[in-house]
Amino acid sequence: MSALKPLILAQIAAHGPMRLSDYMALCLLHPDHGYYTTRPPFGTQGDFTTAPEISQMFGEMLGLCLAQSWLDSGAPPAFTLAELGPGRGTLMADVLRATAKVAGFHAAANICLIEASPALRAVQAQTLAAYAPRWFGSVDDLPEAPLYLLANEFFDALPIRQFHRTPAAWAEVMVGAAGDDLTFGKSAPISLPELDQRLNDTRGGDVVEYCPAAAAMITAISRRIAAFGGAALIVDYGAWHGVGDTFQALRSHEFANPLDAPGMADLTAHVDFSALANAAAPHNLRAQFTAQGPFLTSLGIDARATRLAQSLRGPALAAHLAAKQRLTSPDEMGQLFKVVGLTPAGAPPLAGFDTVQA
Ligand code: SAH
Repeated sequence: MSALKPLILAQIAAHGPMRLSDYMALCLLHPDHGYYTTRPPFGTQGDFTTAPEISQMFGEMLGLCLAQSWLDSGAPPAFTLAELGPGRGTLMADVLRATAKVAGFHAAANICLIEASPALRAVQAQTLAAYAPRWFGSVDDLPEAPLYLLANEFFDALPIRQFHRTPAAWAEVMVGAAGDDLTFGKSAPISLPELDQRLNDTRGGDVVEYCPAAAAMITAISRRIAAFGGAALIVDYGAWHGVGDTFQALRSHEFANPLDAPGMADLTAHVDFSALANAAAPHNLRAQFTAQGPFLTSLGIDARATRLAQSLRGPALAAHLAAKQRLTSPDEMGQLFKVVGLTPAGAPPLAGFDTVQA
């Protein structure tokens, strides 16, 4: 039974239907009953698995990309190595292991994590105990230093608002109540300056999603990198240009109705990568794009996979080969997952983005 549902029904009874973004924020991060605050969501036991949990090679490739960027920028002697939403800390641990032999990199790195869930912070503290990480509430609170930042499957967890296009405005999707059940409804049409651009590329009846927190986060990251130098690598699933309803719930690796058991399923939406690029655009950065498969291939995952395979036999070897396939194949994560790299416009470009994308 969802302990959160009666609280949400009471809030709707008192204040009327709520925005999808408010519903999503309560379901994911309610202090007592939120999805991330109450359970370990990852891995085969959990509701979903992520690239760093599939293979150590994912973090190794991202680590080498960031370390190369650090070297290319003259190896600044003190920098922030930050991760947004580090989950179990696996990605950061793999990044640090892979970069241990990059001279000076660890000595200069100040490991900073941004994590909303106290339960996951405790897991990260264990995984990364050897590296003395520190936790921060937001990007704006990070130390004033060059910022090398990672985020994998973080932006898809940020709350979205969803709108149906009317001839010249937008009806917002709201979560309301019918008796003891939660239901979707729509607001009266409103106009919203943030969606003015979308009037040009959509038609009546189309659905668009807008993630206010993602835009704010990219703005904060971009300001930092423009002011102090560094690089951001953001990996997530989504479209170059988002249209349509992508709001979804996952429970035990199966799609579920997002209104059925609030707080007990992972709620996500596809990331709209053009919206991320628009948020970075005013800050004089270079934005590079590719998909996960070409990115990992360009950074050398094939050679690394071959090397690791040499010491494996039987089921362990089969699992290793399947994991590499899962990360890179266009039929699995290779095309659906996209990578954005942000660097100062004048800095050398990031490695891994050299494959031209259709
Ligand atoms: N990056 C990890 C975990 C992805 S799941 C991996 O690839 O395995 C999303 C992560 O973001 C979780 O750690 C979750 O607790 C955290 N998170 C979600 N919303 C957040 C927010 N608004 N602020 C900070 N952390 C958040």
